[in-house]
Amino acid sequence: MSYLTVAISGSDKKQISAQAARAKSAGAEMLELRADYIEELDWKKVKHAMKAIFATDLPLIVTCRDKSEGGVGDWPLQLRTEMLASAARKGANFIDCEYANFVNPEVRQQITEALDENPDCRLILSAHNFEGKFDDLQDLHDDIKKEYPEAIPKLVYTASHINDCFEGMELLENSSDDLIVLAMGQAGMMTRILAKKYGSFLTFASLSSDESTAPGQVEISEMKKLYRWDSIKEKTELFGVIGDPVGHSLSPAIFNACFDAQGINALYLPIQIQGAQHEFDDFLNNIVNRADKGGFGFGGFSVTIPHKAHALEHVARVGETLEPLAADIGAVNTLKLGIGGKISGYNTDYAGAMGALCASMDIEKHQLHKVSIAMVGAGGVGRAVAAGLAEVGAHLTIYNRTVEKAAALADEFNCKYEWLDRIDNMDAQVVINCTSIGMHPNVDASPVPEACLKKGMTVFDTVYNPLDTLLLKQAKEAGAKTVNGAEMFIRQAMAQFKLFTGEQADEKTMRKTVFGCLSK
Ligand code: NAP
Repeated sequence: MSYLTVAISGSDKKQISAQAARAKSAGAEMLELRADYIEELDWKKVKHAMKAIFATDLPLIVTCRDKSEGGVGDWPLQLRTEMLASAARKGANFIDCEYANFVNPEVRQQITEALDENPDCRLILSAHNFEGKFDDLQDLHDDIKKEYPEAIPKLVYTASHINDCFEGMELLENSSDDLIVLAMGQAGMMTRILAKKYGSFLTFASLSSDESTAPGQVEISEMKKLYRWDSIKEKTELFGVIGDPVGHSLSPAIFNACFDAQGINALYLPIQIQGAQHEFDDFLNNIVNRADKGGFGFGGFSVTIPHKAHALEHVARVGETLEPLAADIGAVNTLKLGIGGKISGYNTDYAGAMGALCASMDIEKHQLHKVSIAMVGAGGVGRAVAAGLAEVGAHLTIYNRTVEKAAALADEFNCKYEWLDRIDNMDAQVVINCTSIGMHPNVDASPVPEACLKKGMTVFDTVYNPLDTLLLKQAKEAGAKTVNGAEMFIRQAMAQFKLFTGEQADEKTMRKTVFGCLSK
């Protein structure tokens, strides 16, 4: 059992009672009374608070956190120990004492005497490091178990990079005893969401972002809905989007909605990897090096800015299969983990872009042969689109602010190029924006002057936030046919879904989720 726990941080009985009721209705499976938050702390107040929480019928942990380990209020050790001992006697299911304090003989004596009186109450011995990782997580765990073998060790450290999570995840996977390991901070989010998969005795979620009691807690509503808490099992397969930043990504919402709708035992996470090739390689190596034990359950990744070239480099160096088109494009946006941790790399941006364009024009790909196309941008998406158009022999001209990049791309794909400010002279049947111009928050910008847009043209904007960019609005007014970036996004995600699961994604669910998110 892994309990989805909410820490109750009210300062008086009324607040505590209200928070407990909200936590219960939001789906909490356990509550932790943070007595250190209580104003003018005394036993009577803790007793009343416990009574209010007992009314929820949820299991209760009582703690009175030491200030040096993240507590609020500088309560004396003697008072805090008395609160825990009394809570144990009065029916708390768990009390949580800092391991550093428990080794004090007086504290130990008071706590163990109380536990002897109520053998149903279990002791959590916790250690928190707000600065970084512990020197040796395994040693700390072993020391706690040696000190009090019946205790549930709770080891909470700060992850400064996502790669700091693996040590904690490994300890959990290797342990068969009740144990709590969590990494704090944004970089540690994965340990909080995956607590159930790796068998952590509990994880914490906040009632709201304002009511979080430790850095990096995810809101309980997100844990339940977006991150599928009730569906997570030991064998749940994991996928995720690797990028930096990834907070804005729609991918967790759309993949998880499809897993849900299609009854697939899988979960999709945002995976922020800060740094470059080295950090990217480290992340994958942590998974591949544990392939014989299941590679932490990861099955594949979507890859976005700035790691598409790192993914290509990684697969080219140590991977199994590299899709030739991904090599041509110079970017891998999909990684699939095979047996033994072998990694293969693909690019689905290409298929997404070509599919969106052809569907809107109601043509087959080969019918783009000799069609004159003006493409703005020579970055990652520009490369994928240029590769697709070159393959079918379209007459492509690449316009870019940094003309050298347009020239290099044009040279690679045997097409023409121009300075972006010469776009007024373009003569094209199809216009494609592959820059970020017009993207939120700069929604009043367009890469193409309005006068260039004509009736009968097809105008495709790869930007999908907003759906209706200024370029598309002006194109519609000019009588052109328009294609928004969501059409490409949905198609590339559907291709990824197929690579990840071998199944066709439920397009209706995917569309509903994408348009639902984008219309907010
Ligand atoms: P990228 O590699 O960073 O390339 C950005 C491109 O935009 C470059 O050509 C850059 O020109 C140009 N650019 C940026 N700001 C500009 C400005 N103010 N004026 C003129 N040119 C500017 O990014 P990417 O991966 O290709 O992504 C580009 C856009 O595609 C994203 O912003 C996103 O909206 C969209 N996208 C859509 C999907 C989808 O599925 N629909 C997927 C991924 C991305 P320089 O070379 O001069 O810097």
